[in-house]
Amino acid sequence: MNEHLSPEEISLWFAGGRTAELERHAAGCAECGARLGRMDSALAEFRESARSWSEAQSETARRIVWNRPVSHMARRWVLVAASLVILASGPAYWRTRQQARAAEMAHADALLQQVDAEISRAVPQTMEPLVSLVTWGSGPSEESQEKELP
Ligand SMILES: [Zn+2]
Repeated sequence: MNEHLSPEEISLWFAGGRTAELERHAAGCAECGARLGRMDSALAEFRESARSWSEAQSETARRIVWNRPVSHMARRWVLVAASLVILASGPAYWRTRQQARAAEMAHADALLQQVDAEISRAVPQTMEPLVSLVTWGSGPSEESQEKELP
C-alpha cells in the first residue's frame, strides 16, 4: 500500500477498527505513524480534560446535593409566607374591590341621572332663562331680547 492513510482510515483506527493492513502501514510509514501519534496524544489530552471536567462537575453536583435541603426548606418557608400573605390580604382586597365597585356604581348612577336630566330638558340649561322669558312673556321688550341673544 503506497498511499497514506485516508481520514476515514484514521477515524477507523481511533474507533477501534484497526485492520492488519492499517497496522502494517502505520508501522512502516513514518509520516502516518507520526500523524497517528500526534492524534493519539491530542485524544489523550482531550480525554484527560474531559475526565477532570466531569470530576469538577460531580464535585459541584455533590455540593448542590448537600445544599439542597437548605434551599428546600427556604422554598417551603417562602411558600408558607406567600400563602399567609394571600390569606391575610384576601378579605382586605375583597373589601377594597367592593368599595371600588360601589363608588363606580354611584358614579355611573350620577352620570345616568345627569344624562336623564339633560335629555328631559327641552332646551340646554344655558338657554333656559331665555326660554322662560319668551314663553311667559313678562320680561323685557322685544328690542332688548334681540340685544341679549348672541
Ligand atoms: Zn503513510
